Amino acid sequence: MIIYKKASELWAYLQQQKSLQQTIGFVPTMGALHAGHLSLIKLSAQQNAITVCSIFVNPTQFNNPDDLKHYPVTIEKDIEQLIKAGCQVLFLPTVAEIYPANYKPIYYNIGKLESMLEGQYRPGHFQGVCQVMDRLLHMVDPDNLYLGQKDYQQCMVIQKLITLINKQDTILLTIAPTQREASGLAMSSRNMRLSEAELQKASTIFQSLTYIKEQLFKNPLSVLQTQATHQLQQQGFMVDYVTIADGHTLESAEDTNGKRVALVAATLGNIRLIDNLILN
Ligand code: AMP
Repeated sequence: MIIYKKASELWAYLQQQKSLQQTIGFVPTMGALHAGHLSLIKLSAQQNAITVCSIFVNPTQFNNPDDLKHYPVTIEKDIEQLIKAGCQVLFLPTVAEIYPANYKPIYYNIGKLESMLEGQYRPGHFQGVCQVMDRLLHMVDPDNLYLGQKDYQQCMVIQKLITLINKQDTILLTIAPTQREASGLAMSSRNMRLSEAELQKASTIFQSLTYIKEQLFKNPLSVLQTQATHQLQQQGFMVDYVTIADGHTLESAEDTNGKRVALVAATLGNIRLIDNLILN
């Protein structure tokens, strides 16, 4: 695996590969890699000649400075895992490489996605996501981009961004299924910060989502949302939201006609976790 820290060197290498008709798959991450990330790398490796992974803890998407300060970094282990998973290129830029002194942030008009759900609880988060993804997509210019369904709203934001930067005809987004622990807990770099006892409790998120899915046609949606919220609160979670939403718009759903997704954000101790489940 080749490791690039400079976008110009990465670009030169990728241009050479493209001139040889090699397809490029891209998996952007913030590192502290787990089997969820590696499932994206493996999928890309199956579908592309060259898989590029980026590891960059993007400061502009953290609305909570404490979360940024404690974000796990396990770079040596990440490199080993990437090699095993079939990744050819790791892009490991510094903050100054992504945001040089002359970088001027622009506003990305992502509509309601900006202020609903994660956007409501993490103001500015999705503008930060768009900033880093705009930079990375221009630096890598992949044929295929791989994201995890775990971050459902983020997938929608990035699909919108691809259109905003006019790359909808050249970059194909693939959304891969959420990888889970045996308990059902969605894999996440932040799980590393949970104690043993908290890890056990954290599986309640998946249990509450599964409960909603099982009960979908048996109870009103508002009742299911309240019940799932109580299940989480009983385990000591601070719940930001439990919502049953339209899977295409993320607007709160009143009925079950159309694609529905249940989304949860809740904090255990100091660790905020999100998850979702497609219901039908
Ligand atoms: P992150 O490092 O958290 O920014 O995540 C990088 C990519 O991995 C994003 O596209 C995430 O949606 C995806 N990802 C994170 N956790 C999982 C998971 N448990 N299963 C599948 N993909 C995931």
